[in-house]
Amino acid sequence: MNICVVGTGYVGLVTGAVFADLGNDVLCVDNDAAKVINLEAGRMPIYEPGLEEMVARNVADGRLAFTTDLTGAVRRSVIVFITVGTPPKPDGQTDLSAVEDVAGVIGQAMERYTVVVNKSTVPVGTGEFVREVIEKNQVRPVNFDVVSNPEFLREGSAIEDTLRPDRIVIGAPTQQVAMSLLELYAPLERPMIITDVPSAEMIKYASNAFLSTKISFINAIANICELAGADVSQVMKAMGLDARIGSAFLSAGLGYGGSCFPKDTDSLVHTASALGYDFSLLKSVVDINRERAAHFVDLIAKALNPLAGRSVAVLGLAFKPNTDDMREAKSVEVIERLLALGASVRAYDPVAMPQARRMLPPTVTYCESPYEAASGVDAVALVTEWNEFKFLNLERLRAAMRRPVIVDGRNVWEPERMRRLGFEYHSIGRKSVLPTQS
Ligand code: NAD
Repeated sequence: MNICVVGTGYVGLVTGAVFADLGNDVLCVDNDAAKVINLEAGRMPIYEPGLEEMVARNVADGRLAFTTDLTGAVRRSVIVFITVGTPPKPDGQTDLSAVEDVAGVIGQAMERYTVVVNKSTVPVGTGEFVREVIEKNQVRPVNFDVVSNPEFLREGSAIEDTLRPDRIVIGAPTQQVAMSLLELYAPLERPMIITDVPSAEMIKYASNAFLSTKISFINAIANICELAGADVSQVMKAMGLDARIGSAFLSAGLGYGGSCFPKDTDSLVHTASALGYDFSLLKSVVDINRERAAHFVDLIAKALNPLAGRSVAVLGLAFKPNTDDMREAKSVEVIERLLALGASVRAYDPVAMPQARRMLPPTVTYCESPYEAASGVDAVALVTEWNEFKFLNLERLRAAMRRPVIVDGRNVWEPERMRRLGFEYHSIGRKSVLPTQS
């Protein structure tokens, strides 16, 4: 099938590569010419395990190509996917300008019946908006349909998630229109939910809001555990074993970041309010999440008392492991707060440092390894739970530090083990421990 995917970010590039891998003829479009040139040269704009190989294989086999020419791409395609960014406006509302721009060009370019699929995360009602924009821009009336097919991939496992999603949601005006997407996804043999466009749009927001709620819920419980002397790890474990609750997204820590949960929760609060519903539950979820970085820096400040003049190693900068995405990464607020309180920061991340350099203040010192970052510091602050941090040589880390203080924002280590290893160890929702006296 000839398809085109507009936007070559995390969603567009992975979607394009996977559809090509399934045997379709895919043209990926982006208005960022430098990105397209790089992609043509085999250079990926993002870090995503397995992506480079999949792109190279399909480009070599002639099933995947890149262009800035949206008009040409629309004219050769029976299905056009919109996967451009939908960032937040300052008031939390979703900025639909990129979607609107693309829909306008699709309308002008369309010469025959086309299925336009919205894969970007967009507020309920956007399908109708896209339909109106296309219609308004058509030079002559051409039939088309707008479908909502929200994306659920997670950065860091995007290929696997696209090949084996828990479910595929197709919101279409009629069963017949839904069939074209069903056909495209059939080789994946995954459960499909066929519904109307507004319900599909809402499924995406409701899912992300629910997962965010689980995270903020356990973080609120962690706050209470800290006050009560209880251990949130035990609480989480026992709760997670309850089949009605489940352990996913039930880890206490620095809260959620990234390009989706923060903006999608804000957007749903805004949509609800615009429709006349005060979504106070979700507002609290957002508030709890906003307090996490300040709470973490407070733990560091209390441990070092005072923070001014101290040196802190921050391990992990990306918003989560296995990605270089720094959007809404907790590391940014943590580092800015540490610097504002007079500390100096040495940072290390396995892949996100090039992105981080563009976002963090210039006074941050970047290091080649966790051990180099820990060299001479008064505390190590773990911000992103990369696997390599779980397997650090902790004796070597301690030997490099000036003071053996660790503040763990993701509860990666066991307090008792850290005590035995000679650390003063602080974590989230658990009792702090002091080193065993030798
Ligand atoms: P991104 O910022 O990584 O990529 C968007 C791409 O669109 C960029 O390459 C940009 O240059 C391009 N673009 C912008 N305007 C364009 C235009 N007018 N014409 C052509 N290209 C244009 O974004 P992303 O992370 O891939 O997210 C895309 C959408 O998918 C968003 O709505 C997001 O909420 C949603 N989503 C993202 C994820 C994720 O994990 N990143 C997961 C599920 C859903």
